[in-house]
Amino acid sequence: MEITMGDGSQVRTEDGDGIAPEMLEIQDKAFVWHPFTAMREYLGASPLIIKRGRGIKLQDTRGRWYFDGTSSIWLNVHGHRVEKLDAAIRSQLDLIAHSTLLGQGNVPSIILAKRLVEIAPGGLGKVFYSDSGATAVEIALKMAVQYWANLGQPGRRLIVGFSGGYHGDTLGAVGVAHDDLFHWPFLGLLPPHPIAPYPRPDRGQSDDERRARSLAAVEKILHDREGEIGAVIVEPVQGAAGIVPPPGGFLAGLREICDRFQVLLIVDEVATGFGRTGRLFACEAEGVAPDLLCLGKGLTGGYLPLAATLATQEIFDAFLTVPGRPESRRRTFFHGHSYTGNPLACAAALASLDLLEELLPELPAKAAALAGALAPLRDRPFVGEVRQAGLMAGIDLVADRASGRPFPAEPHVGFLVARHIADRGMIIRPIGSTLVFVPPLAATFAELEEMGGILRNGLDDAALELERIARGG
Ligand SMILES: *Cc1c(COP(=O)(O)O)cnc(C)c1O
Repeated sequence: MEITMGDGSQVRTEDGDGIAPEMLEIQDKAFVWHPFTAMREYLGASPLIIKRGRGIKLQDTRGRWYFDGTSSIWLNVHGHRVEKLDAAIRSQLDLIAHSTLLGQGNVPSIILAKRLVEIAPGGLGKVFYSDSGATAVEIALKMAVQYWANLGQPGRRLIVGFSGGYHGDTLGAVGVAHDDLFHWPFLGLLPPHPIAPYPRPDRGQSDDERRARSLAAVEKILHDREGEIGAVIVEPVQGAAGIVPPPGGFLAGLREICDRFQVLLIVDEVATGFGRTGRLFACEAEGVAPDLLCLGKGLTGGYLPLAATLATQEIFDAFLTVPGRPESRRRTFFHGHSYTGNPLACAAALASLDLLEELLPELPAKAAALAGALAPLRDRPFVGEVRQAGLMAGIDLVADRASGRPFPAEPHVGFLVARHIADRGMIIRPIGSTLVFVPPLAATFAELEEMGGILRNGLDDAALELERIARGG
């Protein structure tokens, strides 16, 4: 419809919301501070503002449709406007939108907790809810430290993290995985958690070598700092490092070392959980059961903010008060968030898990289809390593393929290529000079093929500009 502005001019609005796209862009720039976004660059460009979704596509306020090539930042499982998910949330809405879990229960949180315990790796018997991946990690870290304190070993307050790791942006999570660019003002605030090298692919190093090197480093830390380490935290596939799968046997090796030194193993499956790597949980690939498991992102199918930290019965038991000893109240886990166990989010998660059961058997074939779609990229100029784990892929852009010479930090080649890919009709978000492609798991074989084509064409469209940048021009 047309609306008349104060100066008498006519502005076309999109149906329903009554605000013209131009006006939304102005107000977005005026009022919204975007996460993980260099705002000067954002304010200087024309913003993408999403208005609706359908299937695995998103529509912007100007009516253009794009493939959701990031799964809305690694969350989305079944696509958008999924009838069963929408209906589950609506029917919960008819009962109640929110009630607290502090000292009381709510129905969907109970049903979901039982379901999560049933599907999670063995031994994880308790579910502690929160609302984002970072909070799920904070909770795991605090549980690990307090577990040892409750057992009379308060000296075990350090957690071993890995180089290149990412566990979220709250201070506790940053403490076990920091990045000089992202976290430089906070480095002085962080505890001295030891960092071990992740077995990242390395030219001239075999899988066995890099796995052994990384495990030996962990072992050395646990040996040298006996009595100081409470846990090791790991991503089964490093996501924010640019989709980096470790060599086979790495996770099982870590489990063995943690058992030997009696240290807890925290597995952060916020990115990898719920089918992303082709199995329900990535730990399953090596039959590893962690002591604490962090879940988030895909838990609600990408619909609502919900996260969970799963713990073993043994950890849970260490937090119980001792009858007749009032001072043992301090063993309690005094941690909570306002929206912990939100019923709408739990209802969405339950419906998402139902759909995921149907989807899971198809995932290996879809991962193979994705590998097929990515294969031709390896012959493109400026493409270095292409890494994949299930339906997540990282494509490194390099200035010189033979030597692996990287592009300069400026101009940002990742964003340059992503712009061309957007012009072709797909949204992806690069990390540094790595293109990260994370399609919704519900993408059909034909859609995966089409998205792969857009990636290739977008990259070809950028070739001349990349050539100039590679030459230093
Ligand atoms: C995204 C992510 C987090 C943080 O989750 P948020 O919901 O963004 O706080 C933690 N760990 C991993 C592995 C992630 O990929």
